[in-house]
Amino acid sequence: MINNPPLPNKVNLLGLDLAAMRQLFESIGEKPFRAQQVLKWIHEVGVLDFEHMTNLSKDLREKLSQIAEIKPPAVLSEKCAGDDTRKWIIQLNDGNCVEAVFIPASNRGTLCISSQVGCILNCDFCSTGKQGFSRNLTSAEIIGQLWIAVRALSQKQGLHDHAITNVVMMGMGEPMLNYENVLPALNLMRSDFAYGLSKYRVTVSTAGVIPGIEALSAASDVALAISLHAPNNALRDKLVPLNKKYPLEELIATCKDYFKNEPRRSIVMEYVMLDGVNDHIEHAKQLVKLLRDISVKINLIPFNPFPHTTYQRSTDATIDEFQRILSKAGYITTVRRTRGDDIDAACGQLVGQVQDRTRRQERYLKARLSESENLS
Ligand code: SAH
Repeated sequence: MINNPPLPNKVNLLGLDLAAMRQLFESIGEKPFRAQQVLKWIHEVGVLDFEHMTNLSKDLREKLSQIAEIKPPAVLSEKCAGDDTRKWIIQLNDGNCVEAVFIPASNRGTLCISSQVGCILNCDFCSTGKQGFSRNLTSAEIIGQLWIAVRALSQKQGLHDHAITNVVMMGMGEPMLNYENVLPALNLMRSDFAYGLSKYRVTVSTAGVIPGIEALSAASDVALAISLHAPNNALRDKLVPLNKKYPLEELIATCKDYFKNEPRRSIVMEYVMLDGVNDHIEHAKQLVKLLRDISVKINLIPFNPFPHTTYQRSTDATIDEFQRILSKAGYITTVRRTRGDDIDAACGQLVGQVQDRTRRQERYLKARLSESENLS
């Protein structure tokens, strides 16, 4: 009996952006324009089988099936909330799960997707952080959430595949600590051969990983959101422990630089409203001072509770007063309406199913933070 050498792993084309796909075709002696054709089949049409790619020759289809595959993650469950918010629990091939949420509104449909299984940052008010951390998502697993949601929504009555107009990376994980896999996924969201979303409609949210912000602003034109949550270092150190590494004065300076190359950019500052913690009038005044000279919008997020948290949501009256002070100082300030909380799909309620967590967490955080220094 002849023992064939083991076949190398097939490359999953789902996670390749245009540049990577071109490279792949060149490496097998094919014309680079094939990359556009294949991207369209995968992301526009939703084809997973090379046999259906009818504008490729039979030989090329055969060749591709030898070396490559198109493999989205699996949908474990789909839930729909009373307000039509939808949540998918997505199972990865190692058994871990992440969550993606679709939030429809009258003039848009926003998909919130995850970048990591769990999160290492351990922000005090976020349930994802309390679940520990397992691993980074691959770019196929990141874009796979959009691929799945587009297909799922197009099957629903009355919805079509343009139901998703915006994508926000505000699900589980810290996108900037998985920069190398997040970037190709962002490129696919923006690409005319894939999802074709405008730069204003793709948003990356970060707790403030400065080297990541710098690298992203050089490599992509997508919108940026910063999870600020506190107007001074003492409070932010407690709420967002990453602040000890990247304190406010450095974060604000980085935000100012962010506008240098592209003045039309804007940043959204996210601020979770925690009763009696960060919602005093004094905090609003400090915030006004901290953000002067940068063109930011402020998004107040009423805290969404989860089991065992000691925090509570600020009262509506407090949120209104906080908003009034910021608006009066000239900042466009919105309050994020809580959506999908009856299916645990609201901000900070996404927990997925994180396996093999916590012990690796600390070591990993250290390694990634020092690695991320080299990004920019
Ligand atoms: N790591 C990234 C993205 C994930 S969090 C970041 O920190 O930005 C997405 C947003 O939801 C952040 O602004 C986060 O602070 C907020 N959030 C987390 N937990 C929350 C909760 N329990 N209630 C309301 N908002 C929360």
